[in-house]
Amino acid sequence: MHEIKDITIIGGGPTGLFASFYAGMRGATAQIVDTLPQLGGQLTALYPEKYIFDVAGFAKILAKDLVRDLTEQAAQFNFPSYLGQHVQALEEEDGHFVIVTDTDRFPTRSVLIAAGIGAFSPDATCSSSSVLSRGALYGALRIREPPSPRRQRGGQRLITVNR
Ligand SMILES: Cc1cc2nc3c(=O)[nH]c(=O)nc-3n(C[C@H](O)[C@H](O)[C@H](O)COP(=O)(O)OP(=O)(O)OC[C@H]3O[C@@H](n4cnc5c(N)ncnc54)[C@H](O)[C@@H]3O)c2cc1C
Repeated sequence: MHEIKDITIIGGGPTGLFASFYAGMRGATAQIVDTLPQLGGQLTALYPEKYIFDVAGFAKILAKDLVRDLTEQAAQFNFPSYLGQHVQALEEEDGHFVIVTDTDRFPTRSVLIAAGIGAFSPDATCSSSSVLSRGALYGALRIREPPSPRRQRGGQRLITVNR
């Protein structure tokens, strides 16, 4: 069981990151719990190398740079982020809530759901082992890297884009 916090934020995307910062600004304690292994939500998982043109104060900014700055801003308050933790249930216990993941229990006085479009998982087509065994990757985290010879099987490259 973890230490109780004022606010537990489900989701470490841009909404959850800014919520974490703002909790600190208001003197509350907070923590983020996210299914993914890294912060940033859709920006990190789906389009880190894409420019965003509609964030106030920036003519344009790469998604990964916005996540970097949001993370730095939130880090001022040293709140923990628990990654790779999929929230399964919300319980009540002794007058507070408990957020339950696969492995942990997070006691909290309030819950902020910043889960966006939900947790990501491979779709049925891409889950097929025949595709995975041929070098399929999820996400676009390495879009600017030149493809390694290992990924250029038979001179063919496959990109699928889903939402
Ligand atoms: C290709 C693409 C391009 C886009 N371009 C733009 C753009 O240019 N400008 C713009 O304004 N918007 C754009 N968007 C939309 C923008 O990305 C979303 O509006 C934004 O990511 C929402 O942020 P969020 O923090 O609310 O949710 P998300 O980014 O979806 O983050 C939610 C987080 O919650 C986590 N989560 C969900 N369920 C659970 C659970 N049960 N347990 C634990 N964690 C959980 C997820 O893992 C995820 O990390 C684009 C979207 C896509 C797909």
